[in-house]
Amino acid sequence: MDYLPLFLDLRGRTVLLVGGGEVAARKASLLLEAGASLRVVSPVLGGELAELLARHGGEHLPMAFEAAHIAGCALAIAATDDAAANLAVGAAGRAANVWVNAVDDPAASSCLMPAIIDRSPIVVAVGSGGASPTMVRRLRAQIESLLPQRLGDLARRAGGWRAAVRAALPDTDRRRRFWDTFFEGELAARLLAGAVGDAQADAQFQALLAADAGSAPRGIVWLIGAGPGDPDLLTLRAQQLLQQCDVVLHDRLVPEAVLARVRRDALRISVGKQPGQHRTTQARINELLVDYARRGWRVARLKGGDPLVFGRGGEELAAVLAAGLPAMVVPGITAALGAAAESGIPLTHRGSSQSVVFVTAMGESAAALDWRTLAAPLQTAVFYMGSAQLPAIVEQLRAHGAPALRAAAVIERATQPGQRLVAGTLADIAARTAAAGIGAPALLVVGDVAGYAGTLGLAAQAAPIHPPGAERR
Ligand code: SAH
Repeated sequence: MDYLPLFLDLRGRTVLLVGGGEVAARKASLLLEAGASLRVVSPVLGGELAELLARHGGEHLPMAFEAAHIAGCALAIAATDDAAANLAVGAAGRAANVWVNAVDDPAASSCLMPAIIDRSPIVVAVGSGGASPTMVRRLRAQIESLLPQRLGDLARRAGGWRAAVRAALPDTDRRRRFWDTFFEGELAARLLAGAVGDAQADAQFQALLAADAGSAPRGIVWLIGAGPGDPDLLTLRAQQLLQQCDVVLHDRLVPEAVLARVRRDALRISVGKQPGQHRTTQARINELLVDYARRGWRVARLKGGDPLVFGRGGEELAAVLAAGLPAMVVPGITAALGAAAESGIPLTHRGSSQSVVFVTAMGESAAALDWRTLAAPLQTAVFYMGSAQLPAIVEQLRAHGAPALRAAAVIERATQPGQRLVAGTLADIAARTAAAGIGAPALLVVGDVAGYAGTLGLAAQAAPIHPPGAERR
């Protein structure tokens, strides 16, 4: 972070404004809104600024800037079109230890003015450290459209109710949970819509608070799919719940970029196997889920991909429900879908594949798989957890009738930085994968559709082996 964002209390403080034109007038009105007293230094004053000063009061020094003008100021804004004058203000500020912002001139500035979305008392400030004003402008527009007009009113009301909530719910966690529930609830929605009168709002709020204080906190377990790794592939619901949970138990597969979306003060527990560390057993994970939820905590069980696809999510769900606790499943994008999208492999495709099977060939159960079906034509098979088993998988498919030239592709770390694709056929996919040094996590896709891998212009490293449109058996 190159700049630390802060909100300044300028009420009653003197702010130096150097410049008398339109830009200075705009800054002056912003500073006056924040309650600052202005000291304007400019040989001439434009009409707009003169009017502001007449209306709100403030000092005007009708002369060129001198370093002495900055004395006693909390902040200085240089809004002249004279680069040398801006630099002089910057230098005076450094000498006097006063923050200086020179408009559109980061070099002369010691602080930058953010773009502001004002729903006071809620204020959002956006900056790029001078890197891209256009991106800042776009973000500001996006955020403007996201924040309801009455957000500030709602915040002000909530502020008025804080003392009552603190008195009724002395425990910090309970309080936070109460507020979360309130802001997601119907009363908040109606307040944002301007559909509740003052007295009515007060009465309804007090009733909500009394009901909450009179009940035991109820924990819940959310089984949340984290998707294949790119945090933008989280569902909206996953993001919302990750912002509300008290504790998150996550897999090793869940990358840091996704964990960054979890509420900052939530307790984080990694239950994945790390190299050289013992894996938390499934029984222990189930136990932890139940224990935390029993304490009244909101527990996020964050699992790679989808929680109910090769994730033992079913067992966790059963354990939580058997303990008499509520649970909810939030689906995620399973690795096969992420890998298909990134490699451009249509999992089903007219003429090449009528069905797709997600399968794992791990361990002894592999022998019991229906290999004839997996090897059949017009079939796509996606093997999870298959990297180490790759030669054995190829051998089984071949033994059950799949031709040597059946297309196959391996996608490593789909949707994550450093993702790789290796494309080939059953005859050479094992050798190509080994030569590329593919590790985990990776998926194997077998079927004619795998011939499209990398041919649709998506980020891919391997050359296509079949031209697009060539539908083969
Ligand atoms: N529940 C997960 C799967 C867990 S099993 C899901 O729905 O995706 C773990 C296996 O998933 C890994 O061995 C690998 O085969 C596959 N996998 C998970 N994430 C992957 C990724 N980003 N790229 C490729 N394969 C991945």
